Amino acid sequence: MDTIIPKVTAKRLPLYYRYLEKLASAGIPRVSSKELSRSLNIDPATIRRDLSYLGALGRKGYGYDVEYLIQFLKQFLKQDEVTHCILIGVGNLGTALLQYDFLKNNAMLIAAFDIDPKKKGKTINSIPIYSLRSLEKFMAEEEPLVAILTVPVQAAQDITDRLVNAGIKGILNFTPTTLQVPDEVKIHYIDLSVELQSLIYFLKKSEPVGLNE
Ligand code: ATP
Repeated sequence: MDTIIPKVTAKRLPLYYRYLEKLASAGIPRVSSKELSRSLNIDPATIRRDLSYLGALGRKGYGYDVEYLIQFLKQFLKQDEVTHCILIGVGNLGTALLQYDFLKNNAMLIAAFDIDPKKKGKTINSIPIYSLRSLEKFMAEEEPLVAILTVPVQAAQDITDRLVNAGIKGILNFTPTTLQVPDEVKIHYIDLSVELQSLIYFLKKSEPVGLNE
């Protein structure tokens, strides 16, 4: 299959897939775009358009065949070899990252987690935000490879331990602290303040030569 699907659609496919799996395990054979819309909070026209890229056309009064859609989605999601990532801490930085298009680098944020109950149940850029309480269950079901950490520094190690116990393989750490993890877990550190400070330091050091170089 080499159908090109728009990135915005590709981002929603894991959402559809997860929900359809739930329906299948509850023994529900078909679903309408209206029902999908209600459960996923995506408008029905968008859902119909997204699913038409998969070659799935809902029939009036019948809806979509759940098993058929699952098979299609499975192929698409595997074919793309997109690395599934999650984000913990939907503050200012977390929100910005949720809006960033990682898909051009073959990575996809499939969910975000936060302890703030006001954030739970919302979506940003079609990415659902869940309560931190459901982290382990989600990880067991979806097995994301990478977690992006944008929580306050005091929460970082605690969450890291939970992520590691739940099987995370890599962490992109935006918190300004060193994290303890077993050797097999890889961490990349991104401290924006340090980067900015070091840039300013080098600019000032080379000031006599001029800032335009
Ligand atoms: P905001 O203005 O939304 O609070 P911020 O980036 O200034 O943004 P931070 O205090 O850095 O806020 O927190 C970032 C996010 O991490 C917030 O959404 C907060 O609810 C969440 N958070 C705080 N502690 C935890 C935790 N233990 N686990 C998960 N998320 C957490």
